[in-house]
Amino acid sequence: MITAIIVAGGTGERLGREGGKQLVRVAGLPVLAHTIRAFEDAARVDAIVVVVHPERVEEYSRAAVAASGAGKVLSVVPGGASRSESVRSGLAAVPGESTVILVHDGARPLVTPEVIDAAVTMLEGDGSLDGVVVGHPSYDTLKFADADGNVSGTADRAAIWIAQTPQVFRAQALRAAYRDAAVHGWDGTDDASFVEHAGGRIAMITGPRDNMKVTVPEDLPAIERLLRMRRGERVVDDVRIGIGHDVHAFTEGRPLVLGGVRIPSDRGLAGHSDADVLVHALMDAILGAMREGDIGKLFPDTDPSYAGISSIELLRRVALLMENVGYELLDADTVLVLEEPKIAPHREAMRLAMAEALGVDVRRVGVKATTTEKLGFTGRGEGVAADAVVLIRCLTPERERQEAVER
Ligand code: MG
Repeated sequence: MITAIIVAGGTGERLGREGGKQLVRVAGLPVLAHTIRAFEDAARVDAIVVVVHPERVEEYSRAAVAASGAGKVLSVVPGGASRSESVRSGLAAVPGESTVILVHDGARPLVTPEVIDAAVTMLEGDGSLDGVVVGHPSYDTLKFADADGNVSGTADRAAIWIAQTPQVFRAQALRAAYRDAAVHGWDGTDDASFVEHAGGRIAMITGPRDNMKVTVPEDLPAIERLLRMRRGERVVDDVRIGIGHDVHAFTEGRPLVLGGVRIPSDRGLAGHSDADVLVHALMDAILGAMREGDIGKLFPDTDPSYAGISSIELLRRVALLMENVGYELLDADTVLVLEEPKIAPHREAMRLAMAEALGVDVRRVGVKATTTEKLGFTGRGEGVAADAVVLIRCLTPERERQEAVER
């Protein structure tokens, strides 16, 4: 019997995401679910043990293990404070009849069934080996340097390999090495180092270079793209455009709020909310690009809870909806059409307020203003008009987006 331990006990602090990096969705599934599926599809693997954060066994079981649809998962067990403690928890759950044990990082979702099977086959083909480590020769030059970055030497690149996972071991050798390390209070940074420390013989096998580990947020787009390419999906960005237009009439006795900024004026705009015509046009543009109707549908003015509400607050809700449904704002530009007051002194504050509500860099939000040369209702100073255009990008495929909308 051949059993794989998938270690997913980390908290993913470096990724800065609640739920840990294992549950971040890429290409439609949590990272950990992709990883589990690779082992499910590896012909040489009979069973899988998943080690997760001790306080999140239920959550991971549901969100990643069940979502993977894998039938080989025997158990989901709580991990420990360190990686080696988590591997020990996994080892305790590996069936005694297992003769070969694989250990793999849950945060390496790009592992393939082919490389998993190749590593097992290599171990089984050489009776003198205790373990096989997937990795690749170092293509970069490695430097020795102190904490201040002062270089003290250069490693001989020909002798350096980058060690990844999976790492495959004879069950006896791995169990003995972990027991031995516990007795001597020794700890290692990967599983092979335990077996090496116990005197075992390990060989490297070259795996695909893209077997990367999710560590920082910047890793996610590359992983998403690779997973989709492997599935033969179209990976060109799915970009949508939206347009919004709004008009509000001037009225006495109300503050003038434009682009989330209160502008000194003896008149304000009439409306159910704070009548921020610019933010309304922007929200309509976003909802239009998402094919989600308009703000009238989302925030009906028959609903008393929206009376006098800050439109910037509504924009925040639109941004949240965009995120939940799986869109990212790429760019937005807006135009205010009015005779007075002058907008230029407030333009940067408007850009900042709207960018902040949308959770994007201020460079992605434009604000301009124009007059209509005294023509029309804006020219006569009866009201203010605003236009907005946005470009958004879909982060999830059509089907999942549909499900998110239905939820
Ligand atoms: Mg409006």
